[in-house]
Amino acid sequence: MEKSQGTANEVKPELRELAQGQLYKTPPGEQKPQEYYDAIKRKFAEERDLRLKYKPAGTKEYIYELEGNLARYEVDPYAPQPAPRAALTDTVEVLFIGGGFSALLASAKLREYGVESIRIVERGADVGGTWYWNRYPGIACDVVSYDYLPLLDEMNYVPRDHYAKGNEIFEHCQAIAKKYDLYGLAVFQTTVTSTVWNNIEQLWVVKTDRGDTMKARFVVCANGPMSKPKLARIDGIEDYKGHSFHTGRWDYAYTKQDLSGLQDKVVGIIGTGATAVQAIPKLGAACKELYVFQRTPSSIDFRDDWPTDPNWARKLKPGWQAKRRERTLLATQETDEQKAKKATLTPEEKIRKQENANIDAMMRIHRRIEKEVKDPATAEALKPWYMLMCKRPCFHEDYLATFNRPNVHLVDTHGKGIHRITEKGPEFEGKVYEVDVLIYATGFDVQKTGIYNQIVGANGLEINDKYKGGIRTMFGIHSHGYPNMFIMAGYQASFQFNLTDMLYAQGEHIAACIDYTRKHGYAALEVTPDAEDWWVQEVINFRGKTDRNKECTPGYYNFEGEDNRRQDGTYNGGFYRYVEHTKEAQAAMEKYFKFENRKN
Ligand code: NDP
Repeated sequence: MEKSQGTANEVKPELRELAQGQLYKTPPGEQKPQEYYDAIKRKFAEERDLRLKYKPAGTKEYIYELEGNLARYEVDPYAPQPAPRAALTDTVEVLFIGGGFSALLASAKLREYGVESIRIVERGADVGGTWYWNRYPGIACDVVSYDYLPLLDEMNYVPRDHYAKGNEIFEHCQAIAKKYDLYGLAVFQTTVTSTVWNNIEQLWVVKTDRGDTMKARFVVCANGPMSKPKLARIDGIEDYKGHSFHTGRWDYAYTKQDLSGLQDKVVGIIGTGATAVQAIPKLGAACKELYVFQRTPSSIDFRDDWPTDPNWARKLKPGWQAKRRERTLLATQETDEQKAKKATLTPEEKIRKQENANIDAMMRIHRRIEKEVKDPATAEALKPWYMLMCKRPCFHEDYLATFNRPNVHLVDTHGKGIHRITEKGPEFEGKVYEVDVLIYATGFDVQKTGIYNQIVGANGLEINDKYKGGIRTMFGIHSHGYPNMFIMAGYQASFQFNLTDMLYAQGEHIAACIDYTRKHGYAALEVTPDAEDWWVQEVINFRGKTDRNKECTPGYYNFEGEDNRRQDGTYNGGFYRYVEHTKEAQAAMEKYFKFENRKN
């Protein structure tokens, strides 16, 4: 039977339902008595408490600043050391800090408005962001490629598979940068060290680690929500004598491209998040022995991949991807029927219904594990005990079966995690696991450090100081006191499972703001304090509706279980409403922004 390539409505409808807060539907007749669900909820709470008991408080369990000997975990293994170059002191119209999808999408839109002078300043040696740095074996995107890869209409490109692999996405980024002529002014292997507003010149002064002092009329913080690798805080991490690296800096010089370098090696991998889930099947097939150190199992759902049908691709009409995006946007809005159905339930009934359906979905994931993993003890250890979406859901066909391989060993730390590494390898409950190479799949610093890097606004205030009392933005994009500055993929925006959906909306909004400012001959635009207050309150109102975060097992979705101010997170009012609000602001710029005339 010919596979459907999926429309935005067909593809992973369960994710769309999750976005709408409906969660998975339980087939009629499969509902269990309420005591069954209550017992599972109690088990979820026990498992969460177990983890909270073992962990150092919240986010402190990780090392974010990789300094001294640990700095090597951040070194770029994909490019030679940069050649010396003269420091830049020129002025550009728009400067992007970061060269991933945020910058590429917003730039494409700016080009449509005729903005010529665009500079990307990027730490890596090319554009691509996440897809530049993450090249681990098995890397692919869990969002359907026809939705995730941006600008497919504009690029006249149809992805090769239903789920794009990392290298295809990286190449797509490079192709976008070429098409929109973004390489010309770009500077790579360059890290921005400070971004300071000059009130007299009405320009941003951007300094870098290469000695540059560039100026820009507009600055876009496009440095990604998860761009800095982090390590678990483990005693003895520096004592380990074997080879080690982070998944975000895969050492192919050691493993070889086809992983043949691991044939005779005992490999350890710490972490079982979305990255590890994709890398472990490849490692299991390639190395002599593999030890997987697990603290909390991921939920592993089905992932139906297939090569794009060329007949389907040929029939696509111009504008096909824009239509998919429109359908996706509409699908995030509740239908009248859904609203009417919900209105018949009390708030408690609504929550119970959602939770029960969520538990049913999680139990389906448990049943899959029992079916696919032969050793019952391993199967038990791989079962996640938390509500679906408490942690990033994972999708894989081979991950679970990899644990049936005789050379693959799950070291389940029952929520404790690895807290000691000896010179030979990780130690758990008195046993040292001797490994030749240790791979840290311990994730990335979420949001803060990456984005807010010595940004000093019109009032001389560093943005972290402004945020000490809580994050304050409009749409997660504008912050009062920081004229002509825009933040992409930061907090207080409406996060989507498909991040590029949100980046489109933000890119379009930013380009519209810049275009308006330029067309009207203004020097600067700045969100008004009232508009900022309004948005912060919107964020708080929508985040106040649920305790789900607190009830979840710790992870980066809930700040590792740390108590967090309600405004320091994402906007939960729904993507449709978010986009509508940005459009309203674009249609009434003078209401939301203060514009400054040129001083000279
Ligand atoms: P995560 O932060 O999701 O995972 C880190 C892992 O390290 C967790 O399993 C964590 O356990 C574990 N860990 C931390 N400390 C210890 C310790 N002391 N001992 C044992 N284990 C430990 O990072 P990932 O790199 O996996 O994923 C980051 C994000 O990148 C994803 O969530 C996703 O958004 C994105 N990604 C996207 C993909 C895509 O398809 N689009 C593919 C891959 C990644 P615990 O769970 O207990 O905290």
